[in-house]
Amino acid sequence: MLYYKILSLILVQVVCTIQFQVPFSLGSWPEKTSQQHYSQIDSKDHPVNLNQYKDDYLIRIDYASNPDLGKYLITNNGTIKFNKWNKNVKQQTIDIQINEDNMSKLLQEFNNDVNFKVIIEDLSQTVFETYPKNLIQTKDEDVLINSELFFQDYRNLETIDAWLELIQLTYPDIINIEEIGETYEHRKYKIVHFTVPSEQTLDGHGDRRTIVITGGVHAREWISVSSVLYSIYELIELYKIDPQSKIFRDLDFIFIPVFNPDGYEYTWTTDRLWRKNRQDTVHPRCFGIDIDHSFGYHWTKSSDWACGDEYSGEEPFEALEAKIWEEYLNNTNSDHKIWGFIDLHSYAEEILYPYAFSCKEQPRDEENLLELAWGLAKAIRMQSGTNYQVFAACLDRDADLLPDLGAGTALDYMYHNRAYFAYQLKLRDTGNHGFLLPPKEIVPVGREVVASLKYLFHFLVDQD
Ligand SMILES: [Zn+2]
Repeated sequence: MLYYKILSLILVQVVCTIQFQVPFSLGSWPEKTSQQHYSQIDSKDHPVNLNQYKDDYLIRIDYASNPDLGKYLITNNGTIKFNKWNKNVKQQTIDIQINEDNMSKLLQEFNNDVNFKVIIEDLSQTVFETYPKNLIQTKDEDVLINSELFFQDYRNLETIDAWLELIQLTYPDIINIEEIGETYEHRKYKIVHFTVPSEQTLDGHGDRRTIVITGGVHAREWISVSSVLYSIYELIELYKIDPQSKIFRDLDFIFIPVFNPDGYEYTWTTDRLWRKNRQDTVHPRCFGIDIDHSFGYHWTKSSDWACGDEYSGEEPFEALEAKIWEEYLNNTNSDHKIWGFIDLHSYAEEILYPYAFSCKEQPRDEENLLELAWGLAKAIRMQSGTNYQVFAACLDRDADLLPDLGAGTALDYMYHNRAYFAYQLKLRDTGNHGFLLPPKEIVPVGREVVASLKYLFHFLVDQD
């Protein structure tokens, strides 16, 4: 009851200017200022072992004039050790995490004909700066009930779960959290239903279209998780202002903020840059399957081995999270008419449409898909000025270079089997921080996502 009162008090103000004084009674986490370096803090107080990144750099390689180099980096099957972060389709650049030794080897391999620049020099520090200033504080009630505080930092799984529970408690009519399965490490797999009951909407009809919005498929892409949470928050705000909106009459929503709970937790406790889930594989010392290579539409086994970042598993739907979602959709087939699927990732500032598995296969209604994609991009541009590029996902995945690179995505699976419109949004930035986007970007990016979602919702309901 107390929760309810305080939450309504605070959430009623869209822009809350009063901040609670946060008590530090539960323990102390060293205050971090922008100048403070992680090396000045006792390593037992580091959120994860930061020394694991200290020899690495994030380096951007321009391969526009050297396609062999591009191919080498994309297929990543040589003896030179590096981790691929992202490829920028338009700029023809690839960002890799690599140490000095291996960088020298790469330069040697290509006779020094490598056009590159260092994007992140102090990777440990950049990792450090993505964690909340005070990890203990994140458990405080104030953080949960004050949205301004909540979205000031990235949140761990425990805090996200507490926040979602509070939202459900506060808005039991419209928010329903459903546990649809269990992960390899026995975490509950949660989805958030957002449905305004038809008594509350004008001339409501039972036949609603469902929009699915997912984040956190890749564990280290924290901005996708915070953006799903921010979307839930903003949709509640919209509901409070206009519960009879056509959006709520004609649509309902499924949000999955953390599609990969085990992987996400692992980025908070062990390795900030982990991408896959955490289940066991054919190789006893390798853990994790890339969920976005596991869906059973045009699935091909990855050339990446079991320890690699893009390992697909040995068969389709081997990743438990992909299987849980597939089973849920099969079991509720008659309840949901899925019209839209938005899968949030980072980073590149791109809107990707099907297909990912091949550029030769044309989607059934490319014209409509493109029109809507440009609309989403325009909505983002109007909101913040950020210019998201629109591409077929196969270009982003380099499916034409190696077929397995584009195989088994949630995007293709959802588009082909379930949703009329399906997109993958790769959020900010274009590489200054990459996966390590500073927390001050949470709200601006959240607003971009909400702008694009509102465009999508109106596109669907205004067609009637
Ligand atoms: Zn991703």
